[in-house]
Amino acid sequence: MLDRANTSPDIRGMYIGGSWVPAARTFDDLNPSDNSLYARIPDGSREDMRRAIEAAHAAFPAWSALPFHERAHMLLKIADAWEARKEDFIAAAVGEGGGWFGKGVFEAGYVAEVFRSASALCYQNIGEVLPSEHGKFSTATRWPLGVVSVISPWNMPGILTSRGFAAALAVGNTVVLKPSEDTPFSGGLFFAEVLEAAGVPPGVFNVVTCSRESVGAVGDEMIENPLVKAVSFTGSTAVGRHIAAKAGAYLKKACVELGGKDSLIILEDADLEHAAKAANFGSFMHQGQVCMSTEKILVHESVYDDFMSRFLARAAKLRTGHTRDKDNVIGPLVNTRQALRVKALIDDAVAKGATVELGGKCWDNFVEPTVLTNVNGSMDIWNDETFGPVVIVCPFRTEEEAIALNNDTEYGLTSAIMTADEARALRLAGRLETGMVHVNCQNINDEPHVPFGGVKASGVGRYGGRWSLDAFTELRWITLDRGGRHFPPVF
Ligand code: NAD
Repeated sequence: MLDRANTSPDIRGMYIGGSWVPAARTFDDLNPSDNSLYARIPDGSREDMRRAIEAAHAAFPAWSALPFHERAHMLLKIADAWEARKEDFIAAAVGEGGGWFGKGVFEAGYVAEVFRSASALCYQNIGEVLPSEHGKFSTATRWPLGVVSVISPWNMPGILTSRGFAAALAVGNTVVLKPSEDTPFSGGLFFAEVLEAAGVPPGVFNVVTCSRESVGAVGDEMIENPLVKAVSFTGSTAVGRHIAAKAGAYLKKACVELGGKDSLIILEDADLEHAAKAANFGSFMHQGQVCMSTEKILVHESVYDDFMSRFLARAAKLRTGHTRDKDNVIGPLVNTRQALRVKALIDDAVAKGATVELGGKCWDNFVEPTVLTNVNGSMDIWNDETFGPVVIVCPFRTEEEAIALNNDTEYGLTSAIMTADEARALRLAGRLETGMVHVNCQNINDEPHVPFGGVKASGVGRYGGRWSLDAFTELRWITLDRGGRHFPPVF
C-alpha cells in the first residue's frame, strides 16, 4: 500500500453536476516528504464555482424532497463506498498529506462513522409543538437551507471534509466543496469518486479544486453567490475571520472551526506514566498538525522533574522521516511554507531565552519532535498556534496559576487535565475557557456524534450529532389556526 502512496492517482477533473470537467489550468500538488509531484490538479476559477453552485441549486428541490429515510440509506451507501476505497485513501493521506501510515488508517476508519452517524441524524426530531395563546397548532420546525459551501483544511482531509458536509447532506441540503490546495485529492476529488460510486444524484455534491492563487476569487463566490445559503469552514483563525466577516456582510449562516493553542494540565496527583504517554501523543501525533494538538504542558512543580524525565524519554524514541517508511511516525510538515514558519517560531523562542530540552533540528520539510522550556509571553510561540511538532512545558505552583496559564491565549478549543481527583477536575473544567475539556486524557479527542467546537478565536458553531442541525437547518414557525384567533370588530 505504501508503494501506492508514491503513485499519482488518476485525476478525472473537477466534479460538477455529476460530470468530471477540466479547468483551464492545472496546479502542482506535491508529496511533502520529498516535494516530488504527487498529482496535477484542476485550478478551478470563479466561473467553475458558479457553475457548481448552480448545479447544486438545481439538485436541491429533489434531494430535499426525498423521504428522510431514503437520504439516510444514501448516507449508509456512502459509508460502504468509502469502506471499499479505504486502502486508496490511506495511500493518498500518506503520499499527498505527508501523514504517518497509522494516522491514515485511523482517519479512514473514522470517516465511515461520520457518514453513519449523519444517517442517524435523518431520524432526529425536526421540531417542537408550542403552546398558543389562540389555541393554534403552533410549531417550530427545521428546514434544509439550500446550497451549502464547504471549505476544508489539509491536516485531516478525510475527517474534516466529511464532517463539513455529511450532516448538511443528511438534512437535505446540497453541497459545493472546495478542498485545501495541499490535499485537493484526499480532501476533495476522492470524495467525489466515492459519492459517485455510492449513487448520489448529480448536482447534490460538487467539488471545485483550485490553487492558493485562485482561492480568493473562488472563495468569494462561495459566499457572495445569492444561491448559497450557508458556509461550513474549517481552517485557520486568520482565514476563518475573513470568511465569517464576509458571511456576516452577506447575511449567510457560517459555522467556523478554527485554530487552537491547547494546554494539558498535570496536577500533582496524576499518574505520571500515563500523563507522559498521553502528552507524547497529544503533542506529536501528525507532527502536531492537529487543531487540538497539545501545545502547552502545564505541570505542577512538585512532579515536574519526574514528569519531564518520563516524557523526554518517550518523545526521544519517535523517528522522523519520509512517510514511505512506516516506522517514521513523524513525517514532514505539509509544505515548505509551514516548515519555515515552525522553524522561525523555534528560532524566535531560543533567541529570547527558551531552552531546547529535546529536538530542535529542522531539514527540508521536517522538524524533529521538539520540547521547549523557559518560554514566556514575549516569545511568538507562547501566543501563536505552532501547528508543528513543538511543545512548551511550563511548571506551575497553584491551581489558580494553572487556570490563568491555560486561559492566557486568544484561542479556546480544548484543554485537558490529569489528576486522580475527578471532583477537582470537574470543578476546574468549568473555569477553563475552552469548548471541550478532557479529564485524564490528552487534548486530541473527537467522535462524530459529539458537539465539537471551540470558543474565543477557535470558532463559532458546533459540528457533530444533533448539534449539526443548528448549522445546517433554519427554523420556521408554522401555525395552524383553528378558529381561536379573534380580530377587533372594527376590522
Ligand atoms: P487555512 O485557513 O490556510 O485554509 C483552510 C481552507 O481555507 C483551505 O481550503 C484554503 O484553501 C481555504 N482558503 C484560504 N483562503 C481563502 C479565502 N480567501 N477564501 C476562501 N477560502 C480560503 O488553514 P489550513 O492551513 O488548511 O489548516 C490549518 C488550520 O486549520 C490550523 O489553524 C488549524 O488549527 C485549523 N483547524 C481547525 C480545526 C477545528 O475543527 N477547529 C480542525 C482542523 C484544522
